[in-house]
Formats: sequence, C-alpha cells, structure tokens
Amino acid sequence: MSYSNELYQQVILDHNRKPRNFREMPNATHFCHGFNPLCGDDITVYLDVDKDNVIQDVSFTGSGCAISKASSSLMTVHLKGKKIEESKVIFDEFHKMVLGEFDPGKSENHLGKLTLFMGVREFPSRIKCASLSWHTMIGALEKKAEGITTE
Ligand code: ZN
Repeated sequence: MSYSNELYQQVILDHNRKPRNFREMPNATHFCHGFNPLCGDDITVYLDVDKDNVIQDVSFTGSGCAISKASSSLMTVHLKGKKIEESKVIFDEFHKMVLGEFDPGKSENHLGKLTLFMGVREFPSRIKCASLSWHTMIGALEKKAEGITTE
C-alpha cells in the first residue's frame, strides 16, 4: 500500500468516526438535501453566508457510507471562511478530479487536503459517494428547495 493510500484510509476512518461540523444549523441562510440512490447516502448541507458572500459556517447531517461522510466532513472544514465564488471553483476542481478529468499533481489548484480523494477515480461506484456533499452544497447555494440526487 502506498503512502497516499494509507493516509487516505486514515483520514476516511478519522472523519467517519468523528465527523467535523456534524450538526443542524437553525440559522442557515442556505441548505439542501442530497441523496445518492446507488449507495443510500442521504445528507443535508447547511451554509451560513454573510452579505459579503463569505461562508461563515457550514455543517451537515444525515447518514451514509464512510466515504460520503468523510467527504462531507472534509468539505465543511475546507469551505469555512471561503467566498462563494471560490467554493464553486473548488467544487469544479474536486468534481473533475474524482472523475479523472483533472490532475491536481499537474495543475495549480485550491484542493489542499482534498486531493486525498483522487484515489476514488479508480472506483467508479464510489465517485458519487465522494461528490454527493459537493453537489448538495452547490444545490444549497442555488436554493434548490427540491433537493438534489446524483441520478
Ligand atoms: Zn456511499
């Protein structure tokens, strides 16, 4: 097992066991429900965006597999304090990375620790688990009241 695989496993286990920002947010300015029928991952993402379009707080609730939970947890940590525009760029980079269309090792990016999820591209059935929270976050920003599904 390579170093990055081992690190990936550790981070997934850690965030699955102790998900960060795992709570409802009664004062959320944006929220959205997301569902991945392939795996059964079912989450809600909450955002508190201020008048300058800065994400002051971000959290999630729900249930799902270890990958979806860890990905949601890492996303909340990564997006806190970011501007909406930046968050959309990061979503785009993350999404293309897990689909295998973007290689963060070769291009400048805003992914930081999120590059750990690059390995997911080897497992097509898990790509939606890793990207569910990100699609849901975008759904929240776009005020998709009906929620989103990965299908
Ligand atoms: Zn899943």
